[in-house]
Amino acid sequence: IYQLPFAENEPVNSYAPGTPERQQLKDALKKARSKQVDVPMYIGAEEVKTGNKKPLNPPHDHQHVLGYFHEGDASHVEQAIKAALAAKEKWANLSWEHRAAIFLKAADLIAGPFRNEINAATMLGQSKSAYQAEIDSACELVDFLRYNVQFMSEIYSEQPESSAGMWNRTEYRPLEGFVFAITPFNFTAIAGNLPSSAALMGNTVVWKAAYTQIYAADVIMRVFKAAGLPDGVINLVHVSGPDAGEVVFKHPDFAGLHFTGSTGVFKHLWKTIGENIDIYKSYPRIVGETGGKDFIVAHHTAHARDVATAIVRGAFEYQGQKCSAASRVYLPDNIAEEVQKLVIEDVKDIKMGGPEDFENFFNAVIDKKSFDKIAGYIEKAKESSTSKIIAGGEYDDSKGYFIQPTVILTEDPQFITMKEEIFGPVVTLYVYKQENFEETLTLVDETSPYALTGAIFSNDRYIIELATKKLSNAAGNFYINDKPTGAVVGQQPFGGARGSGTNDKAGSKLNLLRWVSARTIKETF
Ligand code: GLU
Repeated sequence: IYQLPFAENEPVNSYAPGTPERQQLKDALKKARSKQVDVPMYIGAEEVKTGNKKPLNPPHDHQHVLGYFHEGDASHVEQAIKAALAAKEKWANLSWEHRAAIFLKAADLIAGPFRNEINAATMLGQSKSAYQAEIDSACELVDFLRYNVQFMSEIYSEQPESSAGMWNRTEYRPLEGFVFAITPFNFTAIAGNLPSSAALMGNTVVWKAAYTQIYAADVIMRVFKAAGLPDGVINLVHVSGPDAGEVVFKHPDFAGLHFTGSTGVFKHLWKTIGENIDIYKSYPRIVGETGGKDFIVAHHTAHARDVATAIVRGAFEYQGQKCSAASRVYLPDNIAEEVQKLVIEDVKDIKMGGPEDFENFFNAVIDKKSFDKIAGYIEKAKESSTSKIIAGGEYDDSKGYFIQPTVILTEDPQFITMKEEIFGPVVTLYVYKQENFEETLTLVDETSPYALTGAIFSNDRYIIELATKKLSNAAGNFYINDKPTGAVVGQQPFGGARGSGTNDKAGSKLNLLRWVSARTIKETF
């Protein structure tokens, strides 16, 4: 096996005032604002424009039009599957070094000449601050591409034992058929990773991006093309979920689903696949990262300042629209008041507005549907007799979908905002008596059907160990004295179980192994 360029995490630009990077990113934003894009679908060698144009609007300025994308229908999904199947044999048989080289080149293009364009697209299209865009659409996407190549080479080099007169080999073949990738709005990195990780392992892919992320998805697709990805390997279609599902899940060559999105949609797709199981050539691989109701538990030995910072950053970065966002917090009575005071002060300092003003830490939520849903939860707290809002609580969608960072204090650990995923900037605090720490751990474990991320804050090693053990099924990513967001590829493989997904850990060998169907070969001499 060849020596590969060793994967390292892409350094994060600060975009601090006065730096040339800041000016370049501002220029890219201005340029993007001043023109209108016309975004096609990418099917085989074709850029397909249907004429059925849908506007792309910044969530923080919803009357502005960044351009249009061409929406397709079921017939385009058929074409995309045909293109994927036609490209399959050549792609699957291309030596892995050549597949790797394409994605390593894509990583370099994003880290270099496309960095400002993809960050600007993520900032405008998904309403992300410069820093949040940088750690997502530049660094995390680059990391996924580079680390996956390293993981792939490690997988291919894992071979069984042989003995005299016998040679055993494992051939890591791609799945037979095509893979369907469905990607979310909240991370440009995930949008790029889901189709590319399956493609890297020799599969060909039909990719459906969230409509609210198409603006940056188009940049990703252009980068893949510029890196030399052959036609038909990844086919990006802009079609409704039902149109796509109708065709994909009734196709005998459907071989795998790579999904990030809501728990409800994932369960629905799983059922649909189950209903159609008899028509497929193989059992499809189903890989999903879904919801979360992520917790922070503080012990009475924790420092109030550390806990408050974790709450504010964990709950409000990217407006709480991370599956990993802290949304329920358990505070011991000895530090609860101090933590609340600090959180309220911090929230007052948060500047809200469009991401083109780099002073704004906090931007808009993604669309009207999200805005209404989140506002509904805030109203529930306003009406409640057991809960009250101690910071934020206002919202206004006249210019953009703005919701203040909102902190609820509840006396009821089963209050709706302690249990249900909100996917927005709302965090609920519950205060427990410090002597009830162990019971509180049980409560944390049993309160919500999700198990994505969680954090324990304590300075007592016995307590840290106790919490780590008692909460072993409650979070696929568990943080000790840190906020529960911001997993870094190559450092904290990411994913959870229960209602949070199949826990195949994005950015790891576990994930890539789902996209191969290994053949064992025994030869005797
Ligand atoms: N990997 C991200 C994090 O650690 C969250 C991904 C998601 O929201 O799906 O914060």
